[in-house]
Amino acid sequence: MPKSVSIQFLGTSSAQPSLTRNTSSLAIIIDGFSWLFDVGEATQHQLNKFKNIKWGKIDKIFITHMHGDHVFGLPPLLCTLSNNLNEDLARRPIEIYGPSGLRKFVYNSLSLTHSHLKRGYIVHELLFPDDPIDSGNPFEPNEFEQSGENIQMTIDQNNNRSWKIIDEEDYIVSAAPIEHSIPCLGYVINENPIPGNINIELVKPILMRNKDALGLKNPMELLKKLQQFQCLTMPDGTVIEPPQRRPGRKIVILGDTFDPSGIIHLAMDADVLVHEATNSLTSDDPERTIYEDVEKRSIENGHSTSKMAGKFAARINAQQLLLNHFSHRYKGDSEAIMNEIKQAAIESFGNNHVICTYDGMIIQIPIRKEVN
Ligand SMILES: [Zn+2]
Ligand SMILES: [Zn+2]
Repeated sequence: MPKSVSIQFLGTSSAQPSLTRNTSSLAIIIDGFSWLFDVGEATQHQLNKFKNIKWGKIDKIFITHMHGDHVFGLPPLLCTLSNNLNEDLARRPIEIYGPSGLRKFVYNSLSLTHSHLKRGYIVHELLFPDDPIDSGNPFEPNEFEQSGENIQMTIDQNNNRSWKIIDEEDYIVSAAPIEHSIPCLGYVINENPIPGNINIELVKPILMRNKDALGLKNPMELLKKLQQFQCLTMPDGTVIEPPQRRPGRKIVILGDTFDPSGIIHLAMDADVLVHEATNSLTSDDPERTIYEDVEKRSIENGHSTSKMAGKFAARINAQQLLLNHFSHRYKGDSEAIMNEIKQAAIESFGNNHVICTYDGMIIQIPIRKEVN
């Protein structure tokens, strides 16, 4: 059975919270388990408010960059995740991935505040070639930090730069550098191919008529092998082919950026692209403002307009574009203004699958229909 995958936006404001939006955080929820991407200040308030994510089901955290609006909520969240543990959770450390400096930030924040966790954590740093290798902490080692990996960037023959982070049975997670005012990462979550539907009406009679020769009480248990893409040869010579594979889902989550082209080699044909849209030309701007000036200012600050996000979504042939990280100057979040921001992205994307996300919003990611 394909797993259910959804994204919940926990904070969609840039730089500082507004009355309607908190600072950056979102969760990918896979069959109830949650991976958080960025943990802005008060992310745990958002988790309390929306009640969709169970604390004990958060087991991985990914940080895009070290700006405060993306990490200030991490140390207190780790403290809260230490509460109400069962034995299994207490044994399983939380894995945290992010750029150079993250390990020191977490360790120092927890040590200087005399925080004692009951659940361990591990920080894995994704290092750029010039980054120092963090060989330990300035404080005494404590019982709740376990040593993490220093993951070096790989550069292929086409000069594409990336980090392979996780390679599990169901998912591969990679990252690549994107351009912002400080070192910044984009993450790509690739689901491995999913088995197609087995034609039971066709397969069942074949299995049943070979039941005795197979020596199996319940030959239907062989369906599992078909789902693992294995071919079955029956004692009577019939060959049952496994169902065709369906491509897994690809989710691309970018940190703040004015130029994410460094991730194109990983991000092509994404099912979902989450892209910041800090700025946009809207009817709230002074009368003589032109788009080119808004874009220029945005790039100077390391950010994108919604039009730039749409262009990038078209460039990687994304199916859907989810915009976040909106400037807090869009006061009151008027529907009309958010619609203008969205329309600018639709025009440059050439596709109307664009959503201006809001805090608490949940988006299901369906599996693709086509067969390889
Ligand atoms: Zn930011
Ligand atoms: Zn930033």
